[in-house]
Amino acid sequence: MPKFVYDFTEGNKDLKDLLGGKGANLAEMTNLGLPVPPGFTITTEACRYYLEHGTLPEGLEAEIDTHLTALESTMGKRLGQADDPLLVSVRSGAKFSMPGMMETVLNIGLNDESVHGLAAQAGDERFAWDSYRRLIQMFGKTVLDIDGDLFEEALEAAKDRKGTKDDVDLDAGDFRDLVGTYKGIVREHAGRDFPTDPREQMNLATMAVFDSWNADRAILYRRQERIPVDLGTAVNICSMVFGNLGMDSGTGVAFTRDPASGQQGIYGDYLQNAQGEDVVAGIRNTVPLVELEKIDKASYDQLLDIMETLENHYRDMCDIEFTIERGKLWMLQTRVGKRTAAAAFRIACQLLDQGLIDADESARRVTGDQLAQLMFPRFDGAAAKEATKLTKGMNASPGAAVGKVVFTSERAVELAAQGEDVILVRRETNPDDLSGMVAAQGVLTSRGGKTSHAAVVARGMGKTCVCGAEELDVDVKAGSFTAPGGVTVSEGDVISIDGSSGEVFLGEVPVEDSPVVRYFEGELRASDGDELVKSVHRIMKHADGRARLKVRANADNPEDSERARRFGAQGIGLCRTEHMFLGERRQLVEKLILAETPEERQAALDALEPLQKQDFEGIFTAMDGLPVTIRLIDPPLHEFLPDLTELSVKVALAGDKADPQDRRLLEAVHRLHEQNPMLGLRGVRLGLVIPGLFSMQVRAIAEAAAGRIEAGGDPRPEIMIPLVGAVQELEAVREDTLRILAEVKEASGVDVHALIGTMIELPRAALTAGQIAEAAEFFSFGTNDLTQTTWGFSRDDVEAAFFSRYLELGIFGVSPFETLDRDGVGRLVRIAAEEGRATRPGLKIGICGEHGGDPDSVHFCHEVGLDYVSCSPFRIPVARLEAGRAAI
Ligand code: ADP
Ligand code: MG
Ligand code: MG
Repeated sequence: MPKFVYDFTEGNKDLKDLLGGKGANLAEMTNLGLPVPPGFTITTEACRYYLEHGTLPEGLEAEIDTHLTALESTMGKRLGQADDPLLVSVRSGAKFSMPGMMETVLNIGLNDESVHGLAAQAGDERFAWDSYRRLIQMFGKTVLDIDGDLFEEALEAAKDRKGTKDDVDLDAGDFRDLVGTYKGIVREHAGRDFPTDPREQMNLATMAVFDSWNADRAILYRRQERIPVDLGTAVNICSMVFGNLGMDSGTGVAFTRDPASGQQGIYGDYLQNAQGEDVVAGIRNTVPLVELEKIDKASYDQLLDIMETLENHYRDMCDIEFTIERGKLWMLQTRVGKRTAAAAFRIACQLLDQGLIDADESARRVTGDQLAQLMFPRFDGAAAKEATKLTKGMNASPGAAVGKVVFTSERAVELAAQGEDVILVRRETNPDDLSGMVAAQGVLTSRGGKTSHAAVVARGMGKTCVCGAEELDVDVKAGSFTAPGGVTVSEGDVISIDGSSGEVFLGEVPVEDSPVVRYFEGELRASDGDELVKSVHRIMKHADGRARLKVRANADNPEDSERARRFGAQGIGLCRTEHMFLGERRQLVEKLILAETPEERQAALDALEPLQKQDFEGIFTAMDGLPVTIRLIDPPLHEFLPDLTELSVKVALAGDKADPQDRRLLEAVHRLHEQNPMLGLRGVRLGLVIPGLFSMQVRAIAEAAAGRIEAGGDPRPEIMIPLVGAVQELEAVREDTLRILAEVKEASGVDVHALIGTMIELPRAALTAGQIAEAAEFFSFGTNDLTQTTWGFSRDDVEAAFFSRYLELGIFGVSPFETLDRDGVGRLVRIAAEEGRATRPGLKIGICGEHGGDPDSVHFCHEVGLDYVSCSPFRIPVARLEAGRAAI
C-alpha cells in the first residue's frame, strides 16, 4: 500500500507531484529550520483515488490517525480538546498553484465546548467566538455548499445593529450570537446540524478539498492555464496560528521582489488583528509591509532575514504568506512567485548578475509567451497626458487596455461575444469572476493590493489589471462608478486602463508600440539604457547562441520580409503566391479561368508573369543571401471567382439583359464548384490540370532570380510544390520546373540555382516520404493542412461548432491548430522526417504551419531534428527564444 500521508518533516520541494506545491514547500521550509506550524500532507494520490472511486482509499484514515496523534503529542494538546483545543487548517494545494481556485477551511476543532477552552487559553472571549463563527461560515460555504452570502448578510446585520461598518466593533457577545445564527443557517440550508465532532469536521473538510478540484472555476482556470485535468490536489493539515489575537498579531503576504518590475525591495501587504483569508480576499484595506517595521521591529527583521534565505535557497523570487501571533512570526506558505513578463526578464538577468544562476538558467526562467506579452502595444505617452485621468490605482498587471465598462462577469462575457472590447470593473474580484476576466480586455478593482485575487489571476493570464483604485466608488447594482471630482462612469462608457502605471483614463487613449518591439525593429538599442530592453537583449543573444533550429518567416511581400529580417528571420519558409493574385490582379486570374482557347489562356498567363516577377524581385532583395521558399499556387481556383449565390441572383435578376461576361463567369463558377474544396482541385493537382500555370510561376521566379544575380545580388529561391500525396505528382512537376530553369539559364546566360521540394501536408505524403524524398530536395511540413487531414476535420467548420465541447471533455487540452498534436500529427512528422532522410541524407526539413510560432510546437520540432521553423514576422522573436530554450 502506498504511503498517503507525509509529515512536514518528511517532504521536500521536489515532491510537488505528490504533495502539491504548498505541501512540498511547507516541508522545504520546515527542513530549512524556518518557523512553520507543524502539520502533515495527504497526497494527491489519495485525492485521485477518492475522485475516481468516491471513497477514501483503504488505510488512509488509519494513516491520518497516526499522524494526527503524533501532531497532538508535538503540540501537547488534542484536536478539539475541550480545555485547550488543538485547531488545524485543512488546506488545498495542487502541483501548480491555482490561486483562490480551491478550498481551505480554518479553525477546525472548535465546537461548543472547545470554544471555551480556546477563550480561556487565549484569555480572550471575543477572539474565540470570532474564530468559531469563522469556522462555521467557511465550513458551511465550502463543505456544506451553503450560499456564502447568507453568512455575510447575517454578519452585516449584526454590524448594522451595532451601528458600525467594521468587524472590530463587534464584541464577544455579538460573535456568540452570530454563532447561533450561523448554526441556524446551516440547519436550514444543509438539512443537518453543524458537526461538532472535530475529527468529523476534519474528514469532511478533507473530502471537500478533494472535491474542489472539480469545481467549475477550477476547471476553467486549468483550461486557461493549460494545467492537466487529472493531477488532483493534496490536502495540508496545518496547526493553527492566530493573527487575530489583538493588535500585536496580524497576517500578511510578501514578495521577495516587486512582481511587476523585478526591483529588489520590500513588497507586501500587512493587516493587524486579522486571519489570513482577510488579506487575500482584499476585504479590508491593508498597510504596506514596510510599516510592519514600526509595528513589530523584531518580527519585521526576522521576516526580511527569512525572505533572503528563501531567495537564495530557491534562487528565484518567492512569494510568502505569514502570520504573527502575539509577536511570534510563523511562515504559512511560500512558492516561486508569479510575476509579470517584464519582471521575469529583469529578474532572470538580476539573478544572473548576482551569480545565483547561470546564463542557460536565465533563459529557462523566461518563456516565449512572456516575450509575446512584452510585444503588446502600450499607451501613447503624450496622448495619455492630454486625456482625462480619473484616478490612479496599483499597477497590478501591465498592458494598455481600452474598452466599455461592465460591472458583472456575465455582462463581460455577453458583450465580448458580440465582439466588443470590455473592461471589467469590480470592487474586488473573486473566483466566480473568472469567466468575465477571461472575456475582458482588462480588469479594474477599487479594493485589494497587488496580491489580491484580481491582481494574481490577471498577471497569470497576462491580462491588463489595475487594482486597489480606492478613490473609485463602485456601485455594481447601479451599474456605475464615481471618480474624484464627481465624474460618474456608467456601463457602456469607454475607459482606458494602464496596467504598467496604474492610471485610469476616461475615453479611448491611443496606443503605441512597446519598447521591446522598437528594440527588435532596431529603433532602440540595448545600450540606450532601458533595463527591460537590456534584459531581453541579453537573453535573446544567449538563446540565439544555443539554438540549433533556424527561424524563418512566413511572408509574401517585401515589407513583411524586411520586418522579418529585422526581427531575426534567417530566411522565408513560406511565401504564399496566391496572395499575389488578389486585388487588381483578380481580373487577370478570372481571364485565365475563363480562357476557352490555349491562346487566351497563354495571354492571361503572359499578363500575370511580369507582375509575379516583380513581387519576387522585391522579396529576393529584402532576403538577399537567405533562402526564400516559394510555394506555387495552392487554393482552388473558385476562390478567385465571385460567390456562386450572389452571381446566380445577379444573372437571374438581369434576365435577358444579363451581361454575357457574367453568364460565362457563372458557368465557370458552377463548373469549379466543389462540395469539399479543401479536398478538391487545388495544390499540385491544379498545376497538373491547368497547363502553364505552374510554369508561369517558375519562370517568374527564375527570371527574378536571374535579374537579382545580374544586379550583384544573392537570391536563394526554393520552389515548393503544395499538397503532394504521391511521388509521381512531384516528379511530373519537377521535370517541367527543371526544364524552365534550364530555359531561363539559357536565355539569360545567368546560372540560376533553385531547390525543388514539397510540402508534407497529407498523411499519404508523410507515410510515403521515403519515396517522395527521391524527387524532393527539401520538405516543409504544412501542419495546418496536415492537422486537418489527419483528424479529418476542417478548421473553419469545427472551431466554432464543437471545439469548446471537446476541450471541456478533455479530448484535447488545447486546440490541435494552436499546439501541434504530438501523438497523431507529430507521429506523422517523425515518420516523414526519418524516412525522408533515410532516402536523402541531409534533406532540409522545416515546418511552415502556424505551429511554427507556438512555443510547445517549437520544442517538438527541435526534438524531431527539423532544420527550421517558419512563422509570422511578429512571432519570430518568440520562436527564436524557444528554439534556444529547447536546446538548453
Ligand atoms: P490559498 O491557497 O487560497 O492561499 P491557503 O491554504 O493558503 O489557501 O489558506 C488561506 C488563508 O488562510 C491564507 O491566508 C493562509 O495564510 C491562512 N492559513 C492557512 N492555514 C493557516 C494556519 N494553520 N494558521 C493560520 N492561518 C492559516
Ligand atoms: Mg495561500
Ligand atoms: Mg496547405
